[in-house]
Amino acid sequence: MRDQLEKLVVLQTIDQRVLEMEREKSQIPQSIASLEEELQREEEKLRLSKEGLEKLQKDRRKKEKDLEEEVDKVKKTEARVLEIKTNKEYQAVLKEIDNAKKLNRQREEEILEILEKLEESQKRIAQEERALEEKRQAMERRVTDLRQKESSFEKEMAGSVQQKEQKEKEITPELLSRYRMLAEKRQGIAVARVVQGVCQACNMNLRPQLYIELQKQESLILCPNCNRILFWDNGALKAEKP
Ligand SMILES: [Zn+2]
Repeated sequence: MRDQLEKLVVLQTIDQRVLEMEREKSQIPQSIASLEEELQREEEKLRLSKEGLEKLQKDRRKKEKDLEEEVDKVKKTEARVLEIKTNKEYQAVLKEIDNAKKLNRQREEEILEILEKLEESQKRIAQEERALEEKRQAMERRVTDLRQKESSFEKEMAGSVQQKEQKEKEITPELLSRYRMLAEKRQGIAVARVVQGVCQACNMNLRPQLYIELQKQESLILCPNCNRILFWDNGALKAEKP
C-alpha cells in the first residue's frame, strides 16, 4: 500500500503543478491585453495633447493675420488724415485710429498669451513622448517575459504530462479512478498527508486507533472528516511535497 500511496502523492504533485501552470498560462493573454490597453490610453492622451497644440498654432496664425490686416487699416486711415477738410471729421478719424490701435494692442497681448501656452504645451508633449517611449519599452520587455513564460510552461507541461502518464501506469486502475474522483470534488487534493496524527488537508486529529492503523500501511484509509485518502508522512518522501 505504501508504494502505491507514494506514487499517488507524486502524481498529485504533478497534477497540482500542471493545474497551477494552466492557471497561470491562461492569465497571460489577459495580462498582455491589459498592458496593450494601458499603452493605447497613453497614446490617446498624447494624441489629444498634440491636437490641442495644433489648435493653438492655428489660433496663433489667425490672430497674427488679423493683426497684420488691422495694422494695415490703421496705416491707411492715418494716410487719409492729411486729406481731411473739416475739424469734425478730423476728430472722428483720430478717435477711430485711437480705438483701432487699442484693439491691436489687445490682439498683440492675446498672441503673446497663445505663445506662452504653445511653449508650455510643447514642453508637456515632449515629456509625454519621453514617458510614452519608456512605457512602450517597459511594456515590450514585459510582453517578452510573458511570452517566454508561456513557452516555458508549454515545455514544462509537456514534460509533466509524460511524467503523469508514466506515474498513472504504475498505479492500480481502482486507486487511480478513486483518486481522480476525489481530486475533482476536493479542489485537486485527493491525498492528504498525516503528520503527527493530524490530517494536513482538514486539520483533524485522527483517533489513535486509526492513526496506528494508518502507520501499518496495509489498507487504504480515508479521513473520517474530509474523506481524502490518508498518507502517513513519515518523512521518507521529502522531495515530493505537494
Ligand atoms: Zn482530513
